[in-house]
Amino acid sequence: MSSTKKKKISLFQRGAAAAERYTGTSDLYMCPICGNAFNMSDLLTAKLTLEHIPPSSVGGKGIALTCETCNKTAGYTIDAAVSGRADVINFTNVIANSESSLGVKACLQIGEDSVNVQVLCEEDGTVNFLILGDSNNPCTVERTSAYMERLARDREGDGEVLHVVSRARYHGRMAQVGDLKTAFLAAFAAFGYRYALDPRLELVRSQILHPCEHIIDGWSVALNLPEDRQYMLMITESVTGVVVKLDKVGVILPWLESRSDFYGELARTYSPNERLQLNGKIVTWPTRLEMALDFYQSAYSEQKKGMDLISERK
Ligand SMILES: [Zn+2]
Repeated sequence: MSSTKKKKISLFQRGAAAAERYTGTSDLYMCPICGNAFNMSDLLTAKLTLEHIPPSSVGGKGIALTCETCNKTAGYTIDAAVSGRADVINFTNVIANSESSLGVKACLQIGEDSVNVQVLCEEDGTVNFLILGDSNNPCTVERTSAYMERLARDREGDGEVLHVVSRARYHGRMAQVGDLKTAFLAAFAAFGYRYALDPRLELVRSQILHPCEHIIDGWSVALNLPEDRQYMLMITESVTGVVVKLDKVGVILPWLESRSDFYGELARTYSPNERLQLNGKIVTWPTRLEMALDFYQSAYSEQKKGMDLISERK
């Protein structure tokens, strides 16, 4: 049996055991986004799929299962936006900061012509444009090369502007819905169904299921948290919620003690671009289905104690 298959089966079994209080059997895994129940044969026929958190295109690991509909249909648009945004950030790092890396694809625009290139930066800051033979019209390449040679030879190019444009495009709000999905699923892996299926999370799940609709707002938060690593922060001062810290951004989610109008209350309390100074307990990023609230009863019955338990046992 392949290691991926073994992993999926073990995620299924852990999830199904946690879902028993909802399904009445330990044979059904519930998709944390839509709440539908699936059996083992659905896993084998790929109706239930391994979900990478964050998406695999930005380095996520498979730590939960979601149904095919939530993973592929609803997920495709938002995952594409998340990976498009990562490409744009990479492009900016290469171009603006001469960050040497494997290079980034871009479009070099000269007059009417535009040529697909690979941008490569060297350690001394030299930026090279490598023309991609396969993805260009040969006539355009010939014209552009002749133009560049003339520029270099005659030094006539004073004041000439060359445009270098990223080939990546992404939908800003869609990428934010992608962050919301990553944050929600990470919180599901850490806390379990008792968290994910709580009525306070209903609008979050609905927004992930319907990425093109405008259901909630205000989950992206600017943070004064310097490190790049991913973790969660349980907040009890000023607001009660969970901040899921992704690479560069933070996502705030309701906690079980939050008011039902969580995002409305946030919007009334904070101005849109205000940097939140948030203090709380750090919960480390889940590496599997921890589901602390499902498996540790005391964590649920006494919330304060539960938070200690969650953060101390890692
Ligand atoms: Zn689903």
